[in-house]
Amino acid sequence: MKQFNQSIDAYQEAVNLMPGGVNSPVRAFKSVGMDPIFMESGKGSKIKDIDGNEYIDYVLSWGPLILGHADERVVSKLHEVIENGTSFGAPTVLENKLAKLVIDRVPSIEVVRMVNSGTEATMSALRLARGFTGRDLILKFEGSYHGHGDSLLIKAGSGVATLGLPDSPGVPKTIAQNTITVAYNDQEGVRTAFEKYGHNIAAVIAEPVCGNMGVVPPTNEFLQFLRKITEDHGSLLIFDEVMTGFRVSYHCAQGHFDVTPDLTCLGKVIGGGLPVGAYGGKREIMQQVAPAGPIYQAGTLSGNPLAMTAGYETLSALTKESYEEMNKKVDLLVEGYQQAANDYHIPLQINRAGSMVGVFFAKEPVTSFATASKSNLDHFNQYYRIMIEEGVFLPPSQFEGLFLSTAHTEEDIQRTIQAARKAFSQLA
Ligand code: PMP
Repeated sequence: MKQFNQSIDAYQEAVNLMPGGVNSPVRAFKSVGMDPIFMESGKGSKIKDIDGNEYIDYVLSWGPLILGHADERVVSKLHEVIENGTSFGAPTVLENKLAKLVIDRVPSIEVVRMVNSGTEATMSALRLARGFTGRDLILKFEGSYHGHGDSLLIKAGSGVATLGLPDSPGVPKTIAQNTITVAYNDQEGVRTAFEKYGHNIAAVIAEPVCGNMGVVPPTNEFLQFLRKITEDHGSLLIFDEVMTGFRVSYHCAQGHFDVTPDLTCLGKVIGGGLPVGAYGGKREIMQQVAPAGPIYQAGTLSGNPLAMTAGYETLSALTKESYEEMNKKVDLLVEGYQQAANDYHIPLQINRAGSMVGVFFAKEPVTSFATASKSNLDHFNQYYRIMIEEGVFLPPSQFEGLFLSTAHTEEDIQRTIQAARKAFSQLA
């Protein structure tokens, strides 16, 4: 049995220092009924806790570490840049470098603004959409998480779904009233909302693949449908690619599905493990942002040299082949899991998009938050604990996807499948 004595001590100290002992809710491992594991270091696909236990890591800091931990290219460039100072509050050419790369790679982005997190990106994109259209309403999807901005914490996924807090106290009713929620993949629901409120909908914000109710891809026409209906009503389409950006494909989910939104929000991979978010889109819209235009948004540390460097080096290291290779490893993982589930008669649904994978202990296909919610959480929790014991670190919630990196090896995948077989055999 693994020992977690150091983590237990650290947690006992932390609960008196931070709410729930953590700086972000899902890190508390509440939904799997465990105490948090405190991490110390990572290299490639492996992460080590403060008790010295090592795991194959499928959390990857919740997505950003697409090259794995402490990638040499990123780390050595960071060493170089840090010697010159950590922040200037004035422009640097590092910002131009990352902006050019993002504009080059993301089909919808002609002009981009760097921020410090995904939350900032989505909040700013909403303000821009409202300011640009002169409308107030936002349409989002049930179970989608777009960060913790007030307008977006309505029927949200991720930690909110996990903790069973559909709406957070502290979000004023007057703000919540401006958010319409519809089930993901529900064209009829979106149509009805537009019939009723279309003239006042500033934007539809959608994860082009949901990653915050587990992984739920769009049905074939869903994204095209959103593109058309927003255009028809003079509303903007915002893709929240904080999770899917540079992960689902080289050109993000929008490139993969060939649907171009008006605005795109980025985070996670774009910062390569440092705090970066971004929003961007059509020049005509982005020129409304201060100081080019009147819609205000700013940040003391936005475009920070270290953050820009980690992002630039990470994105530069990714080639189209990197995605093909990651996809092949996902194929292996999915096949192995499916085989194991068949062998032990465990009802299991696996959804995937690029190197994002959602493993649901569910009988029916998962296409929405409602279907994801039918998962067997007892099965998930037992499986989770066994995987930890076997040295596999997964997101501690049924409603989160797992991620692969370019550093994961075939051997990692085989070991993970063996661990899952062991878990399934005990669930059977
Ligand atoms: N949008 C999506 C799709 C996300 O997955 C997340 C974070 N998981 C966010 C926004 C918020 O990003 P951050 O945590 O960097 O604020």
